[in-house]
Amino acid sequence: MERTKADYRNILRSHEPQKEFFIGVDSDGCVFDSMEVKHKECFCPMFIKALKLQSVSKFARQVWEFVNLYSQFRGSNRFIAIARALSLLKERPEVIKRKCRIPDTAALEEWSARTNPLTPAALAAEYERTKNPDFRPFIDWSVEVNRAVKEIMRGVPLFPFVKESLDAVKGRADVFIVSQTPTEALEREWTENGIYQYVRYAAGQEVGKKADQIRCITEDRYDPEKILMIGDSPGDLKAVKANNGLFFPIVPGREDEYWQKLAEEGLDRFFAGTFKGEYENSLLEEFAHCLPDIPPWKR
Ligand SMILES: [Mg+2]
Repeated sequence: MERTKADYRNILRSHEPQKEFFIGVDSDGCVFDSMEVKHKECFCPMFIKALKLQSVSKFARQVWEFVNLYSQFRGSNRFIAIARALSLLKERPEVIKRKCRIPDTAALEEWSARTNPLTPAALAAEYERTKNPDFRPFIDWSVEVNRAVKEIMRGVPLFPFVKESLDAVKGRADVFIVSQTPTEALEREWTENGIYQYVRYAAGQEVGKKADQIRCITEDRYDPEKILMIGDSPGDLKAVKANNGLFFPIVPGREDEYWQKLAEEGLDRFFAGTFKGEYENSLLEEFAHCLPDIPPWKR
């Protein structure tokens, strides 16, 4: 029988801590150097193709990369991200001058505000129910993205210093993967890269949102100052702060440097109880600075 969300949650809730410290690690864009190739070679080209943005491709690309890689919206669900990208695109003067028709996102936004989880299957079901043609370009885009991901995403590497950091944690903390990737894919990818042995359990998308994943694992088990999340997106930060834990950012664009920083000083501070306060605040400032909410063309 297939496991339900409740089954997945119960597995996490029933684990017995082996250590005083908990470390949650995001996978995509944090441990794996996957975001650039995924967005630049898969999501963005299909955005231009499926939404017929060829005449404004330069601006469409800038908008896509800003939303998904270099802003506070990094790590958003694909349907939230595409609505945001189109709303930024349609107000650009260059796009207005070129008279490019930008698809209407009102129905998509209305659907995404009342739906959870926002999956391609859920959108396809909504289209079947309503036959609203405004959904069509987003469904086509999502299908094309999945096909491109399958074709292109091969041999995605670990960031340098990931293994060194996980080695430094060995025997000192309970390490869990906290990710919105399917659990099966997490287990496979971490095993293929020789790092699954560092992990107690992979919490994938089946468990629910990241804040819920962390809650299921840590509630009534770990002191909040002994909970650390390592991630690359504002969603990772929010998820751990919802549980009063600590955050170490793998700052986008400077991932090598931050994994090294984690291995050489961040972990020692976490285990010594000197992470919270000034040290964490300076990390969070740098993280926010690297992921602005105003696009460069508006500054
Ligand atoms: Mg990530």
